[in-house]
Amino acid sequence: MISEKMIGMVQNSSAIRAMFEEGKKMAAIYGAENVYDFSLGNPNVPAPQAVKEAAIDILEHEDALMLHGYMSNSGYEDVRAAVAASLNSRFGTAFHEENILMTVGAAGGLNVICKTLLNPGDEVLTFAPYFGEYRSYVSNYDGVLKAVPANTIDFQPNLEQFSEMITEKTKAVIVNSPNNPTGVVYSEETIVKMAEILRGKQREFGTSIYLISDEPYRELAYDGVEVPYLTKYYENTIVGYSFSKSLSLPGERIGYLVLPDEMDDSELIRGAANVANRILGYVNAPSLFQRVIARCLDAKADVEYYNRNRETLYSGLQKAGFTCVRPQGAFYLFVKSPMEDEKQFCDMAKKYHLLLVPGSSFGCPGYVRLAYCVAYETIVNALPKFDALAQECGLN
Ligand code: PLP
Repeated sequence: MISEKMIGMVQNSSAIRAMFEEGKKMAAIYGAENVYDFSLGNPNVPAPQAVKEAAIDILEHEDALMLHGYMSNSGYEDVRAAVAASLNSRFGTAFHEENILMTVGAAGGLNVICKTLLNPGDEVLTFAPYFGEYRSYVSNYDGVLKAVPANTIDFQPNLEQFSEMITEKTKAVIVNSPNNPTGVVYSEETIVKMAEILRGKQREFGTSIYLISDEPYRELAYDGVEVPYLTKYYENTIVGYSFSKSLSLPGERIGYLVLPDEMDDSELIRGAANVANRILGYVNAPSLFQRVIARCLDAKADVEYYNRNRETLYSGLQKAGFTCVRPQGAFYLFVKSPMEDEKQFCDMAKKYHLLLVPGSSFGCPGYVRLAYCVAYETIVNALPKFDALAQECGLN
């Protein structure tokens, strides 16, 4: 028999994945071009050419024994130094290689940091709507995830309620901006206030509260919007980065954690995170892709492609009568469900071969998420279906 904890996890297993599987089945029946799958955040812009060129050059010219061998758990020193230097030049920080730990994507990094920080019963706060996998990452180490209710006016964090929810048991706060599922970028004003609240609570309780910035979508920001670099606003910040979306490499499993000198117990945390990376079974981040990303730190995904999708889908949905906040980043739209039960609405959408994810998967019922990292034609062809769906719901 499997463990009791896994029974629960299997039952709650991601609705997003379930929808993705359903999409594949529908595509087999109706033809892929007649199914409009907005369920999964799988980038559809190809990785930059520089990635392929770097991989080939590394395989042909670098020392194969080193490339395929074991290494320090934290990753190659030269790669970590290159990441630190790139961050310093972009954000005016002063990181060095010891502040960088290469990880198996953002998911690996978040698990490493939760393993490193959490005692059973420790609380981790996040803001609804949030990436549903946080529940599993925190529960993996017997922590308790608590979500601050959504501010559905503009989806900036609700800081009053946040302040009230912090207790002596609060060990960490996870923020994600640009946000999955809303596409909202947390403003500098929000971050400054959040940092003030956290400092005040640390003083009040005599504890350290770590702010974990989960930022796989940092590079996907539109209209010139600035995404604040959080280590500059709050000392106890840990950054989790991933190349899954920025370079369209989700299957390669490559990312890093930034563990700054300024945070409390920095040396202890860095040492423990290095061990956690090993004992969680990752051992180290994939070798080839560490070396590839070190050469591609200035490469960029085609953000303009996503931007065109964003503009077309957002204005099309608005015209059809749907309501949603205009996303400033990532590749998601969070749309208000015209029906109280958004799961029922998702079922109705399936009649039109539109696959959407219920907001309850993100701790925010009454909304649905659309991932617009799809072919532009999918959006163009889906808009009449959205129109018909809106009509059935009495929106136009
Ligand atoms: N965090 C957020 C907010 C995400 O949306 C995702 C993936 O969609 C992840 C983390 C996991 O990213 P990775 O593929 O790098 O593990």
